[in-house]
Amino acid sequence: MIVVMERGATPEQVQHMAQRVEALGLKAHIIQGTERTVIAAIGEERAETKESLASGAGVADVVPILAPYKVASREVKQEPTQVCALGLKVGAGSIGIIAGPCSVESEEQILSTARAVKAAGATALRGGAFKPRTSPYSFQGMKEAGLKLLALAREQTGLAIVTEVMATEDVALVTDYSDVLQVGARNMQNYRLLESVGRAGKPVLLKRGPSATMEELLLAAEYILNEGNLNVMLCERGIRTFESHTRFTLPLASVPYLHHKTHLPIVIDPSHGTGHTYLVPDMAAASIAAGADGLILEVHPDPEQAMSDGYQSLNFAQFNETMAKCRAVATALGKRI
Ligand code: PEP
Ligand code: MN
Repeated sequence: MIVVMERGATPEQVQHMAQRVEALGLKAHIIQGTERTVIAAIGEERAETKESLASGAGVADVVPILAPYKVASREVKQEPTQVCALGLKVGAGSIGIIAGPCSVESEEQILSTARAVKAAGATALRGGAFKPRTSPYSFQGMKEAGLKLLALAREQTGLAIVTEVMATEDVALVTDYSDVLQVGARNMQNYRLLESVGRAGKPVLLKRGPSATMEELLLAAEYILNEGNLNVMLCERGIRTFESHTRFTLPLASVPYLHHKTHLPIVIDPSHGTGHTYLVPDMAAASIAAGADGLILEVHPDPEQAMSDGYQSLNFAQFNETMAKCRAVATALGKRI
């Protein structure tokens, strides 16, 4: 349930109510809005909980949260959440662009890409050091050596680093080198991993599983939020359907739907969502038109030579053109990239 504090409630009253929520065996998440503060009280509720909290000093109302996902719900927080990492700002009117290769391959590859995407307007660099590959015989990523190259790219360009963490035992290592932890589509329902990234203290980019429903995505986010980490971006990266003209089917209705249900920002991945370079620029622009708060795009200096996902990667010139298209759409909507 939600403990809605009065507009003039003091910080002491908020703290006191949070303690009372915890004393009832519930978890208290204090959410500061621009208008008022609410405390989301999460856990198994007893019949007398509502009355007991409603009488507290500074409390305006106690209302149930109807959605199964609690902290992610718009019911708890009406204002959109903005997730920030260095210069990357995603949500609440800011559109953030995350760009870079599918995999980190070499110093030259990652540094040249970082410089190119920064010059074109990206504020974060993506690049996988731990790669979840369908086949165990495919390139698995440079691992820690790749993380070191990403950190070097950040040092040289100031871009925020977004990189995937695949396993609970790697969370500490990946956290040391990165600014945003990416949880990949295949791990969306790895609940121990979600809890672990929730505790890591860094923003998280949570990708939708290719066969997960919107509700499952929001409940997966809830595992991270429930650890006290509100800096979660949801990423639509396409789902598996009967259709085969694209690698996955990219449903852009996810954007307005999720905006309706949650305050968390929505990032679209048109690279994995289509699986073909030539489809990426238009779907990137369409994502901005649908209201996306950010894009994650695969960019490679020489896509033909890429060690993974070259067939869906943009070269530098194509990335520049994509940015120009996206900017034009953003401007038409009164937004800025
Ligand atoms: C990736 O970002 O390169 C990736 C593996 O994405 P996904 O988890 O969406 O397949
Ligand atoms: Mn990829």
